[in-house]
Amino acid sequence: MNEMQIPRRNNLDAFWMPYSDNKYFKSTPRMLARAEGMSYFTPEGQEILDGTAGLWCCNAGHGRREIVEAIQKQAAVMDFAPTFQLGHPIAFEAAARVAEITPEGMDRVFFVNSGSEAADTALKIALAYHKARGESQRVRLVGRERGYHGVGFGGMSVGGIGGNRKQFGAQLPYVDHLPHTHLPAQNAFAKGQPEHGEHLADVLENLVALHGDTIAAVMVEPVAGSTGVLVPPKGYLEKLRKICTKHGILLIFDEVITGFGRIGTNFGSERLGVTPDIMTMAKGLTNAAVPMGAVATSNEVYSTIVDGMPSGIELFHGYTYSGHPLASAAAIATMELHRAEDLPGRARTMEPYFEEAAHALRGTPGVIDVRNMGLIAGIELEPRTGKPGARAMEVFRTCFDEGVLVRVTGDIVALSPPLIMERPHVDRIFGTLADAIRAVPA
Ligand code: PMP
Repeated sequence: MNEMQIPRRNNLDAFWMPYSDNKYFKSTPRMLARAEGMSYFTPEGQEILDGTAGLWCCNAGHGRREIVEAIQKQAAVMDFAPTFQLGHPIAFEAAARVAEITPEGMDRVFFVNSGSEAADTALKIALAYHKARGESQRVRLVGRERGYHGVGFGGMSVGGIGGNRKQFGAQLPYVDHLPHTHLPAQNAFAKGQPEHGEHLADVLENLVALHGDTIAAVMVEPVAGSTGVLVPPKGYLEKLRKICTKHGILLIFDEVITGFGRIGTNFGSERLGVTPDIMTMAKGLTNAAVPMGAVATSNEVYSTIVDGMPSGIELFHGYTYSGHPLASAAAIATMELHRAEDLPGRARTMEPYFEEAAHALRGTPGVIDVRNMGLIAGIELEPRTGKPGARAMEVFRTCFDEGVLVRVTGDIVALSPPLIMERPHVDRIFGTLADAIRAVPA
């Protein structure tokens, strides 16, 4: 078929868009066609300053030449090779580079393709770990309300968003949820970690009292992102860690957002001073240039499962694309940028200015809370009566049309810009957002 015979139609019907109001979008599409540095560009050439690093993921900014070239080079050398009972050097190198920045003692890296796969993989590893130790009664999983761990059956069930579950009937059995840590009456407009809420971790003790030694793992995000930026109260994660250790429960941190410098350290656990047993990551791992996620585990978790098995396959789990050569190449190049440009350090340096700009929105009519840590901020708006989310969605559209990309989740505007951001970008993002909040009717 030559080019002239290819049917040319600009039809939006075929792509069933994820997590979208398909009908609304297709009636008024907002498209992005190019990206570079801190910005996207629409097909018409309008520049859109990226206040969200795509979806919390392009930490080093867009179109990084080093990553592009690494992918191109690898594609020419070897497009694909399996990692089931075979290896290719680049996947091993990528894992070693990731292990250089994971917390000490968490040096084993299992590759997947997304945050959702990382969540389900982490939960399966936790269950396999207990079984390998002869504690096969440990089958219960504990998540947290307003937790987001992707859309696989594990992550959906352990995640704490009712709206994500209600269409899908049966969930994983044996799942409980801790309360979320959002206490607006005590903690509104807290900067960084709020003062109140440590006691909410005690609910885990209640679950242990109820279920005894049948709990396998607790999974939480160090800072919950997708449900509106919930920063853990002081002492809360420390307490969860203590209770888990006391009762032989594994602690899983979902670091899909907080990983790779987002809150000023390599991983959130480092800044928050609490080390989990298993952690998930994705997004910033490849700067989102190629899909990739990973699960890092403590050496103890790894050796219990792997060395505990006399011979044969130790973990009946894996994906065709685990350690995909192109993703591995992108991860290695990203880890090099992460180190050479000290992306966590850049986030740390910019945080005070970003924090002040976010909290300057306090007093803007309709703003009922501002929460932040590292280069993440959530600005909560008073919902429109009877129409939750409508006001924030209008703010999103207004910002976009004014050339700034923000993200909304319910009535919360979330910001998570690339970590290479400079002060003028901060000024423009928050200036445009403030104007939009004032312009959109209550
Ligand atoms: N966990 C967390 C904490 C996330 O924020 C996300 C995505 N926003 C996921 C898991 C799921 O990642 P993915 O969309 O790549 O499956």
